[in-house]
Amino acid sequence: DEARNLIVAVRIRPMNARELSVVGAKNVITVDENKVSINSSCIGSSTTKLNYMFPYDHVFWSCDKSKFNYSSQDEVFSKIGNPLLENAFQGYNACLFAYGQTGSGKSYSMMGIDSENLDCNDIGIIPRFCKKLFNKIELLDDPNAAIVDVSYFEIYNEKIHDLLLSNSHRTPLKVREHPVWGPYVVNLSTYKVKSYEELKSWLLLGNKNRAVAATLMNEKSSRSHSIFSIELSLEENHIENVTKRSKISLVDLAGSERLGNTNNNSNEEKLKQGVFINKSLLTLGKVICALADQKKGVQFVPYRESVLTWLLRESLGGNSFTSMLATITPANVHIDETLATLRYACQARSIVNRAHVNEDPHE
Ligand code: ADP
Ligand code: MG
Repeated sequence: DEARNLIVAVRIRPMNARELSVVGAKNVITVDENKVSINSSCIGSSTTKLNYMFPYDHVFWSCDKSKFNYSSQDEVFSKIGNPLLENAFQGYNACLFAYGQTGSGKSYSMMGIDSENLDCNDIGIIPRFCKKLFNKIELLDDPNAAIVDVSYFEIYNEKIHDLLLSNSHRTPLKVREHPVWGPYVVNLSTYKVKSYEELKSWLLLGNKNRAVAATLMNEKSSRSHSIFSIELSLEENHIENVTKRSKISLVDLAGSERLGNTNNNSNEEKLKQGVFINKSLLTLGKVICALADQKKGVQFVPYRESVLTWLLRESLGGNSFTSMLATITPANVHIDETLATLRYACQARSIVNRAHVNEDPHE
């Protein structure tokens, strides 16, 4: 019953042209099975020369496709996405989120190389998850017993925007608390889908709306959180006579680079200057700390301090299986952000959740 239901993984992307063009560009990351080490001699002189080594549930080394140990999109999905899918069919909630600085590979991992083309080989976790969802439904004794509803929205500046409305005059939506099912977004459009092809068209529309919004407003793409949500209901056979339900949230978080989580000066400067800090991301950090501390007896978890954590409450603390993918670059130029991400992910790993099945007994 005390089985851990949080998986924390790290993925390292290839160095990009810009990083390689820096004089003295260096790879500061070493991977040994499920451990990531960071070469501390590359960290500025203010930091003591410690050997940083962090253990995770999985480490995906994706720096060079030509090497045998390259971790593919398929491998990432099968290790951190597929277990959630299996549990969703048993009636457990699921949540998977990607965390990391802008440009570290969150969207590549979640959606793929091109969010407007989901028919290539390099598709990410979300389309893979959805494809396999329908493959599994088709294998059920009665595929019609499965009902799938999808919605897609983003949180920007603590405001919720529906990504599945083509209407450009979208008004922000509100969160309310349902007495039984918990927090939900009021008036969010949800669509029933009967096949992967149908689902894919909604996914593409949402991705397009997200891209348009990002072009209209500079920096929006790096500061918004996008949440693709699936509700799966399974009418069980007449012997068990219950309906199993699962809510699945697949989250591409805002860039983590403005978090003041590290002790390096640039972040402290940003804090002092009062630069806008992403409230949802900051609160996610506090929630993770509080949950990690619960073992020591601390009770209060500030879920309601941000829209993201309020909506994901059940996914983070309660009745859910959760995977966190932390994405990093191996380049020495970003070592401070990389260290902050690795620490954050390590902290998250100490949370222990307990999940139970969502069952509706029939009247
Ligand atoms: P983020 O969403 O974290 O801002 P992206 O996913 O957009 O970052 O990645 C930034 C760039 O790096 C993109 O051009 C993307 O295609 C590339 N990239 C990221 N991860 C990988 C990877 N594992 N393999 C190859 N290219 C990657
Ligand atoms: Mg992105």
